[in-house]
Amino acid sequence: PLVLGIETSCDETGVGIVRGTTLLADAVASSVNDHARFGGVVPEIASRAHLEAMVPTIQRALDTAGIKASDLDGISVTAGPGLAGALLVGVSAAKAYAWALDKPLYGVNHLASHICVDQLEHGRLPEPTMALLVSGGHSSLLLTADITTDVRPLGATIDDAAGEAFDKVARVLGLGFPGGPVVDRRAREGDRKAIHFPRGLTGPKDPEFDFSFSGLKTAVARWVEAKRRAGEEVPVADVAASFQEAVTDVLTRKAVKACQQHGVDHLMIGGGVAANSRLRAMAEQRCERAGIRLRVPRPGLCTDNGAMVAALGAEMVWRNRAPSALDLSADSSLPLTEVSVPGHQHGD
Ligand code: ATP
Ligand code: MG
Ligand code: FE
Repeated sequence: PLVLGIETSCDETGVGIVRGTTLLADAVASSVNDHARFGGVVPEIASRAHLEAMVPTIQRALDTAGIKASDLDGISVTAGPGLAGALLVGVSAAKAYAWALDKPLYGVNHLASHICVDQLEHGRLPEPTMALLVSGGHSSLLLTADITTDVRPLGATIDDAAGEAFDKVARVLGLGFPGGPVVDRRAREGDRKAIHFPRGLTGPKDPEFDFSFSGLKTAVARWVEAKRRAGEEVPVADVAASFQEAVTDVLTRKAVKACQQHGVDHLMIGGGVAANSRLRAMAEQRCERAGIRLRVPRPGLCTDNGAMVAALGAEMVWRNRAPSALDLSADSSLPLTEVSVPGHQHGD
């Protein structure tokens, strides 16, 4: 199936086009620079930027793919979770195109899309697959089979998401926003054993597959503050590397354990934090040792994009799933177990 997918849940206007599991176009316009001086994404600015970028980005994707909109078998769009106003721009655009072109519309979950995107890189996901979803707003271990219907949470963060911790630590270190990519870069020059930061929820009585990163973030902030108070220079690269080591150690340890305990031999890592170079390297080592096959999309497909939404849309069509109704609405807090959104059926 040939599907166009639209993503507007945060600050990226993404439009992807896929044929089955083949990526034909992945156009992204980001408003990230407009938010930088506020130290975080400003919803109103994001919505306005989506409105301006929407039609040109769709056109760019169609041109790159070399197809006509009338060739499409369906249109998919992120229905949630995300910023309400931002989601609304994508959902409205998707509805307008679906209606005008008379194509089926699929409102899908942003988080399931972060998993499904791997099909564009490594072919269809094995059933079952363990998924470690690590992004700006989520950190979860999920057991999946059919990705269009089956996403079973085994554990999640009880406080901050992994990406949020990267962003906050970057702010403490004065590295700017978004923090993940800069911390990753600076950590390469640092000693990851320089400072031992706490590994949250790894005690014998702690929940096995839940995460906690807020204590780690506080420990880093305290450590940096103490250095500054003592008038000493903060070894930014060492702090970045040691912090990153603590996050990736816990994530990979729990992911491998979840695979072993559930007898699953395929691990997929998705979401923005999956772009992290140390996480990728450590996961590779630990999975190899445990006899687990690892699947991680290339970094550009880990962060938000339209291709991931198109990938899940194509899977919906391929599996003959019912399309959404045209009065579909965005749901900013869509639970991750709801892979697609039906829209309001007649009589609701
Ligand atoms: P969600 O998917 O939970 O709704 P989101 O869409 O805002 O949240 P993503 O775009 O999936 O999040 O990921 C963004 C997050 O990934 C940010 O917190 C960012 O700092 C982090 N990130 C991006 N690249 C890296 C990297 N190389 N290392 C660590 N973190 C990274
Ligand atoms: Mg973003
Ligand atoms: Fe995301």
